[in-house]
Amino acid sequence: FHVPPAVNEPVKSYAPGTTERDAVLNTYREMWEQQIEIPLYINGKEIKSGNTKEIRPPHDHHHVVGKYHTAEKKHVDEAIETALAARKAWADLPWEQRAAVFLKAAELVAGPYRYKLNAATMIGQSKNIYQAEIDAACELADFLRFNVEYMSQIYDDQPESDASAWNRVEHRPLEGFIYAITPFNFTAIAGNLPTSAAMMGNVAVWKPSDSQMYSAQVVMDVFKEAGVPDGVINMIVGDPEMITDTILAHPDFAGVHYTGSTSVFKGIWSKIGKNINNYKTYPRIVGETGGKDFIVAHESADPKMVATALGRGAFEFQGQKCSAASRSYIPKSLWPKVKDFLIKDVQSFKMGSPEDMRNFITAVIHEGSFNKLAKYIDQAKAADDAEIIVGGNYDKSKGWFVEPTVIVTTNPKYETMETELFGPVLTIYVYEDEKYEETLHLVDETSEYALTGSIISTDRYAATLATKILENAAGNFYINDKCTGAVVGRQPFGGARNSGTNDKAGSKLNLLRWVSQRLIKETF
Ligand code: GLU
Repeated sequence: FHVPPAVNEPVKSYAPGTTERDAVLNTYREMWEQQIEIPLYINGKEIKSGNTKEIRPPHDHHHVVGKYHTAEKKHVDEAIETALAARKAWADLPWEQRAAVFLKAAELVAGPYRYKLNAATMIGQSKNIYQAEIDAACELADFLRFNVEYMSQIYDDQPESDASAWNRVEHRPLEGFIYAITPFNFTAIAGNLPTSAAMMGNVAVWKPSDSQMYSAQVVMDVFKEAGVPDGVINMIVGDPEMITDTILAHPDFAGVHYTGSTSVFKGIWSKIGKNINNYKTYPRIVGETGGKDFIVAHESADPKMVATALGRGAFEFQGQKCSAASRSYIPKSLWPKVKDFLIKDVQSFKMGSPEDMRNFITAVIHEGSFNKLAKYIDQAKAADDAEIIVGGNYDKSKGWFVEPTVIVTTNPKYETMETELFGPVLTIYVYEDEKYEETLHLVDETSEYALTGSIISTDRYAATLATKILENAAGNFYINDKCTGAVVGRQPFGGARNSGTNDKAGSKLNLLRWVSQRLIKETF
């Protein structure tokens, strides 16, 4: 049985004068004025709890674009019961029928919903059009298409049999419901986490980030129009602690699919541990958490290439990627040139609202993030062992704007070499060329995380040495590239240590976490 071959959705250019540029800007302007009201989605119904919160774009926090309703405990209970009631029919549906629903969802994302998804991501998460296009339109369509392909491979994969014994494997959905918790920084991740479990026949309660509600609602509309049956994916938002505690206390809780902070994930893990005797089955725990991702340059590298990798790896998407380059190690001999190129590059980045297509950098997500970044920038200004070589300003008068900032430190364990800031701040340590190997060990030992990392080198021995010494330091390791921009179907994404369970997003491995196999041996 063959599903249509998965292809990556081509990224549109949005160049001046193109119809797509006009289309997305018109949609943006309409949505800006709309005063949207986002309900909870339970059993296919739109529920308005009456308790609402305002949605304000991060780049213009004086403007209210709408509000979303928040759940009380009774809504969480209802979402769980509804999911469980929908489970049997969905699980019993032949897998090709489920595949068709998600292939249709991919076509809706790439087609009729494209500009709406992009505009919602631009308004609600302050992404410029290129960031929104890569995330909301292309990556979400890619996740859906490639996961359908992986799903077909999973169902196809059967053990050996012989004339007297026929062995068959059934990939049963988990016995219960899945809890999907998604972050603000990628609309694609929001769409991926509930659907990868649902595709395999599971039902889900989905809690998007309350900083992503605008695009979350559009994603939910896509699911509905694609034909995801009522109750299969329910969306609720509200007090995260209450929602999580209610869900984790349920005996039919069968797994969590998570992307977000390390500390929240650990909290969930330990709550699951405390409840372990109450569950029917061991819950699956799948999570992608923090990162302190690195770019290491070897003395053989081209300084311009290193600077470009740093500028893009650290500052695209306002540095709000789990994979963003946030610490770097540059050899002394290359540093003067890298520094010049990097400063020029960063000074050329325009910052402002996403509807102005020239802006490379927009606002960070919210006040909490702004304050955290401002605090570390101020600390660097006052520190004896650190200096800011470009950026360092921030301004919250209109939106949560933080300039792309490069800190250079003489202390390889300086706080911002170790702590995840999740914003446009990069810290660089300059090492003595002859201490390359020592520096690689330092890279490995400096951070509790292991998500992404890069080595830039034209010397094959040096690149190989880095690949070996850093074997546990990054789940996605790049040679001669920046450490961001994993493409679904090409670079499955995820990390280990405090970065997650490394069940790669967009992979067969990930989908296998959402099934429980039954082996049937029949003898003749
Ligand atoms: N997949 C993205 C990348 O490689 C990062 C996803 C994330 O931030 O979680 O850049």
